[in-house]
Amino acid sequence: MSALEVTNLVKEYRGDGYVVRVLDDLSFTADKGELVVLLGPSGSGKTTLLSCLGAMLSPTSGSIEIEGTDLTELNGPSRDQYRRTRVGFVFQGFNLIPSLSARENVAVPLLINKKVKRADAYARADALLERVGLADRAGHKPSQLSGGQQQRVAVARGLVTDPFLLIADEPTANLDHIQAEAVIRLLRELRDDGRVIIVSTHDGRLVPVADRVVHMAPGGVAIEPERVRVRYAPGEVIFLQGQHAELVYVIEEGDVEIYRDVGDGTEESLAMIPAGNYFGELGALMGFPRSASARATTEVVAEAMGANEFRQGVEDGKY
Ligand code: ADP
Ligand code: MG
Repeated sequence: MSALEVTNLVKEYRGDGYVVRVLDDLSFTADKGELVVLLGPSGSGKTTLLSCLGAMLSPTSGSIEIEGTDLTELNGPSRDQYRRTRVGFVFQGFNLIPSLSARENVAVPLLINKKVKRADAYARADALLERVGLADRAGHKPSQLSGGQQQRVAVARGLVTDPFLLIADEPTANLDHIQAEAVIRLLRELRDDGRVIIVSTHDGRLVPVADRVVHMAPGGVAIEPERVRVRYAPGEVIFLQGQHAELVYVIEEGDVEIYRDVGDGTEESLAMIPAGNYFGELGALMGFPRSASARATTEVVAEAMGANEFRQGVEDGKY
């Protein structure tokens, strides 16, 4: 059994009439002392996966076991406890507090979350700043440090609670390559402490330093929305120009007006669609945002369905 076991992880985001599956049945394991690189382009679900690992987000299904404990089964207080003590976070934008010194920034998680004496927290912060090669910068404010130094302070802060898991979300994206290399070298060294370190990146250059690589599939998989019967009152808006489009509507009863905002507060009527016809197909089929708005002008009853079902219906001669 591995220290970290991610099994059949699924994460879907649900919106108004659509579902996007960002993580689709993802499984991997990692052992203590390993550096895992999550590699994938923007939008491939790296931040989503890291948020699930950090218990900031609940997966739709699947499990995440950390030393035998399933994160997805933790209740509120134990989730908080897990987040505070077992995970450290490092962000792309460093996220240091500008008014605090490096030492104070590193000590923050201890000072907030535990009944640790201030002097002990600062002693631990100093030891970690030494570990990341910044002992002589403990009194500096973030603005007095380079980007690479700030990120090393952020790594020290991530380690201050001695977490099992250190999560770094694109930690080198804002750094030049020399600074990036120093941060990566540091993360590699930190493996030796027996933690699991997980670093996300869209940059394949990190692959050689990884003990394991998890490839994130580009683009979420859109799940076909369920067909629903919808009803609208006269004057009710069905969708608005610019909105994400998933559904195609086939009108069974009533009339629908398609109109566009002209920009000066007035609108332009584009079409009146009577019962027996469909609308909203263009955005749904092409994945474009709505190019116009739709509203019921009478009582309207319609069948709303996803693009694939609609396409099939057209092929079958139904619409
Ligand atoms: P990455 O970090 O690899 O760029 P993310 O995990 O941030 O990827 O996002 C993956 C996909 O999920 C993107 O298409 C994004 O638009 C979508 N997404 C992220 N968060 C949400 C949310 N809260 N609601 C709906 N969709 C989301
Ligand atoms: Mg991201």
